[in-house]
Amino acid sequence: MSDSIFSNYINGEWVAGASSIANISPADKSDIIGQYAQADKAQTQAAIEAANKGQLEWQESGLEQRYSVLMAIGDELIARKDELGELLAREEGKTLAEGVGETYRSGQFFHYYAAEVLRQMGETADSVRPGVEIETRREPVGVVGIITPWNFPTATGAWKIAPALAFGNAIVFKPANQVPASAWALTEIISRQGLPAGTFNLVMGPGAEVGDVLIHSKKINALTFTGSLETGRKVAAATAVNLVKCQLEMGSKNALVVLDDADLENAVECAVGGAYGGTGQKCTASSRLIVTEGIHDRFVEAVIERMKKLVVGHPLKEGVHIGAVADGRQMEQNLSYLELAKKEGGKLVYGGEVLTEETDGYYMQPALFTETNNDMTINREEAFAPIACVIKVKDFEEALETLNDTNFGLTGGICTQSLKYATDFKRRAKTGCVMINLPTAGTDYHVPFGGRKDSSFGSREQGTYAKEFYTVVKTTYIRA
Ligand code: NAD
Repeated sequence: MSDSIFSNYINGEWVAGASSIANISPADKSDIIGQYAQADKAQTQAAIEAANKGQLEWQESGLEQRYSVLMAIGDELIARKDELGELLAREEGKTLAEGVGETYRSGQFFHYYAAEVLRQMGETADSVRPGVEIETRREPVGVVGIITPWNFPTATGAWKIAPALAFGNAIVFKPANQVPASAWALTEIISRQGLPAGTFNLVMGPGAEVGDVLIHSKKINALTFTGSLETGRKVAAATAVNLVKCQLEMGSKNALVVLDDADLENAVECAVGGAYGGTGQKCTASSRLIVTEGIHDRFVEAVIERMKKLVVGHPLKEGVHIGAVADGRQMEQNLSYLELAKKEGGKLVYGGEVLTEETDGYYMQPALFTETNNDMTINREEAFAPIACVIKVKDFEEALETLNDTNFGLTGGICTQSLKYATDFKRRAKTGCVMINLPTAGTDYHVPFGGRKDSSFGSREQGTYAKEFYTVVKTTYIRA
């Protein structure tokens, strides 16, 4: 490592970048978290070469070693959750509680996949030819490129790195350039686990430079990406040319349906938590609130009352519920969607103001619109903002139709006490995850996660389903 610059990690060594950038907290522009190296194209190529060299040794290192490495990474993340959670909150802007929770969850991903290392079973079959047996087993896919967004700086990396390592792959990891500190901290932990050189590589830098090399490389075997739809399309197009396996998790326009018979208090908690948690910067956020006529007015009034209790402020300050917006670009985007919603005829019934706090950062009061319809741009494009729009509908059927009338399909939720509607919703919602009487955001780490339509592409992430992406199946025929 050079003195004051946090370096890239390539082929088992800390390597200075071609240049560096300052990592500035969006909650306090005077808080410089550090200077972070920026890889160039040549360094990214070097990381890919190193991964190709290191992979076989890691694949053959034995299950016990892989298990121990993953357990140790998970243990350390959990033991250091307060310190690393604070770092995460400073660089991303989410609250300390959210930062600590994310770090803890990241540790759980490593523990889960440590256990998966020891659960690798194949299958056998008799051949149609007498005297011949068949076995199928899973082998590592090889070198995996990992590209992650800024909104879950540690967890997104963790839920990809843990299974990649568990199944014997080598990695080239490119985190979002807005949040290099959490990725660097995770890399530092991984660097102390005695992995074969080249098994794990960190290349920090812009998507157009570092990411571009990764997605166009013929020397990686699989590319897993989480980020925007626009970038996801580029990743899919570039990897398709080289027939590189590709997995995309992208944006969404999730909706929470609230029916007349919902428990109002719970529906309000689901809506407010789902729409504004993480400053609305979650791919699972409920940006559309689809509400039936009979409960509409009571629901809106109760949501506004609940929103009045939300404290916006510096992420590390006690009692704060909503932290800072991630950066100046995101703030501009939030404000332009706010204006657009007004122009399209939405009625701003609460919030939306830019707030001035003690520290110079990007703060915004969460906003609620009513009188919107599903054709408005604000209800069709992902704003990734603390903005929720109420869409009033007649009944369950119209609610479901509205929920499904979108290009996206990550999560969908319903608040109802009717078993009939809940069951019908579960079956007919065109989303990858369905939440009943729960917020659309908030998922577990041991089950599959992903969406439909423009939200996801390729096989599912997380849980046992992750093995589909991180392994290839080999079928062997044996005549004794
Ligand atoms: P983004 O697409 O701008 O960036 C994501 C990553 O791709 C970053 O590391 C970026 O540097 C890289 N990148 C950008 N251009 C690239 C290129 N041309 N080639 C290769 N890599 C490139 O997304 P973002 O703004 O960082 O994140 C927000 C988006 O992520 C939202 O749309 C959100 O919904 C989505 N997201 C999805 C999930 C999910 O699991 N579905 C989870 C979190 C975030």
